Amino acid sequence: MTNSKDYSHIIDCLRTKKRCLWLNDRLSPNYRPDQSILAGIADAGARFKRCEPLLAELFNELGPTDGRIESPLTDAGKLAACSPVTAPGAWFIKRDDLLPVAGSIKARGGFHEVLAYAEKLALDHGIISPDSDRHCLAGEAARELFSAHKILVGSTGNLGLAIGTLSAALGFRSEVHMSADARQWKKDRLLARGVAVVEHQGDYSAAVATARSLMQESDYFVDDEASALLFYGYATAALELKMQLHAVGRKVDSQTPLLVYLPCGVGGAPGGITVGLKAIFGPDVHCFFAEPVASPSMLLQLCSGQMEPVSVAEIGLDNKTEADGLAVGQASLFVAHRIQEMLAGVFTVSDDELYENMALVEKYLGFLLEPSAAAGLRGPIWLNETEAGWKYLKRHQIVPDHATHVIWATGGSLVPELQRIHYRSMAEMKIRSLEC
Ligand SMILES: *Cc1c(COP(=O)(O)O)cnc(C)c1O
Repeated sequence: MTNSKDYSHIIDCLRTKKRCLWLNDRLSPNYRPDQSILAGIADAGARFKRCEPLLAELFNELGPTDGRIESPLTDAGKLAACSPVTAPGAWFIKRDDLLPVAGSIKARGGFHEVLAYAEKLALDHGIISPDSDRHCLAGEAARELFSAHKILVGSTGNLGLAIGTLSAALGFRSEVHMSADARQWKKDRLLARGVAVVEHQGDYSAAVATARSLMQESDYFVDDEASALLFYGYATAALELKMQLHAVGRKVDSQTPLLVYLPCGVGGAPGGITVGLKAIFGPDVHCFFAEPVASPSMLLQLCSGQMEPVSVAEIGLDNKTEADGLAVGQASLFVAHRIQEMLAGVFTVSDDELYENMALVEKYLGFLLEPSAAAGLRGPIWLNETEAGWKYLKRHQIVPDHATHVIWATGGSLVPELQRIHYRSMAEMKIRSLEC
């Protein structure tokens, strides 16, 4: 349990929206996910594998990878040329902004859950057997079956985009409940594919609650706050990263640890990836989450040490942020329980900093992220330039020069041109105030 002096200090920081790095004192470095979690991850990996031909058939974009949902690992050494974000070690960006079809990290969890549901329905109705080629899920019989079922989801935008897109491609009816934060272009994209989009005035939790309450007997609800299938779908990214690090010659061991920085909304995506990485690298990987100063829901949930849900509204925060994908006032308890011994810590990000981060990525690496996706960029700085960070490095005997930093970029490639122009002008305004 956090001692009360640290606790009140961190709550003061959060309340006043001061940026901070919180270290998780329940972290136990040698902790590894239990058998049931390992089985869930293996199951998800196998499901993606057997559904590759199906996905390749459904989406032309997946032709080049034969249906694999994967993203590149990009060298980010050039960022070190810019003083505001220099820190020792090797820098990489994991480009989930480029994940095909969905354009965000939600392709991993969201696609996995829709595939699992489609398989289950088809098995239950005798359209496939456990060993059938999953191609059959794109056939007439499956399509007819799916058209009698509806998939519902509540989302800040990207989850709805992923679920709606794959559901529609398989012939399901789908209904996406979008929170007020969701960007119009995400709604438009779904509407164009025949997905029903319901807009809400409330925030993400309200959109999820409404979607949940509307579910009928033949419907399926993707529960972003408590879904194991989403979680394990995300976790499969860990194996992909392992192979990519190997391919670029970065060893991960106690001398050369891996530090990963993940933007966190409700917690499913970063939490799933964290358990996946812990399953592979154990104490040699250190996972940190990034959350907006207005929505530090996972930080608050974990540092409060509560088993009950805690909302950022309880400490007077409004959950209003430009990072639409991270505008979540209450973290997933399902995830919080599963990562509480595995997560290294959480740092918070102001909206100004998000735009600075976007500008830096565009200037030095040449691509544009969406605001949420840029949240993790200052992770290495937090560790190398703050007292809490030094404490962490020292406690875990991390030599800064030997670290491999992976900043997880979570979305952006589908952002339409007009929205890009807006993001770019916001970003340019911010970067002028930095000396680069
Ligand atoms: C959803 C999302 C996240 C965070 O994932 P959670 O599962 O909500 O924690 C981060 N970045 C982007 C762009 C997202 O869409």
